[in-house]
Amino acid sequence: DLPLIAVCGRPNVGKSTLFNRLTGSRRSIVGDEPGITRDRIYGEVEWFGRDARIVDTGGVIPDDEALIPSEIFRQAQVALEEADSIIMVVDGRTELASPDLELARLLLRGGKPVFLAVNKMDTDALLPQAENFRRLGFRNVFPISAEHNGGIGDLMDEVFESL
Ligand code: GDP
Ligand code: MG
Repeated sequence: DLPLIAVCGRPNVGKSTLFNRLTGSRRSIVGDEPGITRDRIYGEVEWFGRDARIVDTGGVIPDDEALIPSEIFRQAQVALEEADSIIMVVDGRTELASPDLELARLLLRGGKPVFLAVNKMDTDALLPQAENFRRLGFRNVFPISAEHNGGIGDLMDEVFESL
């Protein structure tokens, strides 16, 4: 069985952009199955010859419609149960919000390896903003740009190291 990486976070932070970049075409949208499978998309990611499964907890439903706050936390609970390693994604261009703090607290207590990806850091000039998110308490903080493929290598090196 391949190890599983879960991607968690609020709507619009870039979970699906990261997931799509990592999986390429190796993903299956399970939206035709009835019930709960619509809210999670599974794919496969290869990193330097190693394979893992990865799950986008935002799912196929447009996030801002589907992911009411409690849903984010339910998804995080499932991630803590089923995943071997967890990436929490935040939008580095926004202020730290209380749902981020609550989600971080939940994930950090879960006993699984957890990594913080501060996304949308498209240029070096934005990097100092990523420092604000250290307050969330993660030991591992990675500024990334999912859209422009920035910082992904350092993040995935560490995530695969944790598997
Ligand atoms: P999700 O709701 O967490 O799955 O977020 P999405 O992946 O759907 O992305 C939400 C929005 O953020 C989209 O408009 C993306 O194009 C944008 N986005 C994602 N990653 C980046 C990034 O690295 N930089 C910038 N500038 N925008 C991004
Ligand atoms: Mg999404």
